[in-house]
Amino acid sequence: MVPESFALFHRLVGSGAGFDSGTLVSLIRGCSQTSDLENGKVIHSCIIRKGLESNIVLSTAVVDMYSKCGAIKQATNVFRTMEKRNVITWTAMLMGLSQNGYAEDALKLFCQMQDENVAANSVTLVSLVHCCAHLGSLKKGRSVHAHFIRNGYAFNAVNISALIDMYAKCGKIHSAEKLFYKGFHLNDVILCNSMIMGYGMHGQGHQALGVYDRMIDERLKPNQTTFVSLLTACSHSGLVEEGRILFHSMERDHNIKPSEKHYACFVDLLSRAGWLEEADSLVKQIPIEPSTDVLEALLSGCRIHKNINMGIQIADRLISLDYLNTGIYIMLSNIYSEARRWESVNYIRGLMRIRGLKKTPAFSLIEVGNQVYTFFAGDDSHPGWGNIKQLLENMRLEAEASGYIPDTSCVLRDVNESMKVELLWGHSERLAIAFGLLNTPYGSLIRITKNLRVCFDCHTVTKYISKIVKREIIVRDANRFHHFVNGECSCNDYW
Ligand SMILES: [Zn+2]
Ligand SMILES: [Zn+2]
Repeated sequence: MVPESFALFHRLVGSGAGFDSGTLVSLIRGCSQTSDLENGKVIHSCIIRKGLESNIVLSTAVVDMYSKCGAIKQATNVFRTMEKRNVITWTAMLMGLSQNGYAEDALKLFCQMQDENVAANSVTLVSLVHCCAHLGSLKKGRSVHAHFIRNGYAFNAVNISALIDMYAKCGKIHSAEKLFYKGFHLNDVILCNSMIMGYGMHGQGHQALGVYDRMIDERLKPNQTTFVSLLTACSHSGLVEEGRILFHSMERDHNIKPSEKHYACFVDLLSRAGWLEEADSLVKQIPIEPSTDVLEALLSGCRIHKNINMGIQIADRLISLDYLNTGIYIMLSNIYSEARRWESVNYIRGLMRIRGLKKTPAFSLIEVGNQVYTFFAGDDSHPGWGNIKQLLENMRLEAEASGYIPDTSCVLRDVNESMKVELLWGHSERLAIAFGLLNTPYGSLIRITKNLRVCFDCHTVTKYISKIVKREIIVRDANRFHHFVNGECSCNDYW
């Protein structure tokens, strides 16, 4: 909340003056906008004290405030205890769940909303589409799309671009394309950005650039996001020269100053493609202190192209920074262990312990029938575990007979080789793939969504599996799509 309005609020409380619900609504909305949980709580308790909880507008604003402040538990509590709820209340709760990463719960809430005969509006549907995109749930995404059509909601740029994003993230780039061409006459930059992002994810860099060319032809002004999407697309397709031209034209031709994000994307593009010296000198030119994203991109390039010396320099620089994510620590310990600097490896592990960092648990999702199944690494609690394990054992033997050699360097635990191999075969995407093979018709496509990046060994194994079982397997990881067909992957081992 803006300080002045809160000061005013305190004065009003102090003077014993009453304030109407209208004032309280605007105060609570102020807290939502500024993610001010502290003051939000004070106003919420004031609402309770005054017995205004039955006011649906006020309580909905409270649900929204808690959601926007990331206090999803409190939001749910308020939502559950409300006597009356309207479509705006349901939508606020749904958006809260979706934006706080509880996409599955949001979809469940939508079913409940339908059971209670509350008609959704287009805002509700757009947040549902985001949930489906997040979960990679094509079936549910399609049914929400059908909902849009049935209810005759306007196909405006916001709606269409959410649907484009959903289809792209669910691996249906052609459906995304169809919608894009249908909506192109709207001449909207958001629409183009979603399509560019979609093509990028699928490694179709040239198509992404094609959208940009059309934008320019139509005199549509690109914005910051357009260039982030374009540079990402170039990076996923290894289009170095095209990316370089775009990066340099941003400011010159479109008056858009490169932000940290743009630098990170461009450094990522250069370093993945092996232009490490150019990436390094670009990093040195950045007017402000480079963000960890920029350094991480460069470090990752050093790892791919085995430039240990530069990698160590960057690693040493990164380690002096306070805020690092777990992924960087793991990459750092990889770099140091490749350089055989064991004392540094131990130092990093110690730092991770002190800073209380744990590896984000990896999980993979697969949609079979009408349900989304979640698998965690090494999770043997699944009812079909026996069959999954047996199938994976068969796959391992067949893959090994065709020349597969496990790469245990992705296992960072200090255990013996055979244990490392066993850990690899428990990786979540393998469990989800095995489950898919067991529970879907022969020859049909298998679609997996993973929360983290696919590790090197799983990538190799999935190539073998696609050939052994003659099935197309699509894996969407944290970065992009991998289409595995007949022993090859669409990313050309570039991710
Ligand atoms: Zn793996
Ligand atoms: Zn791949």
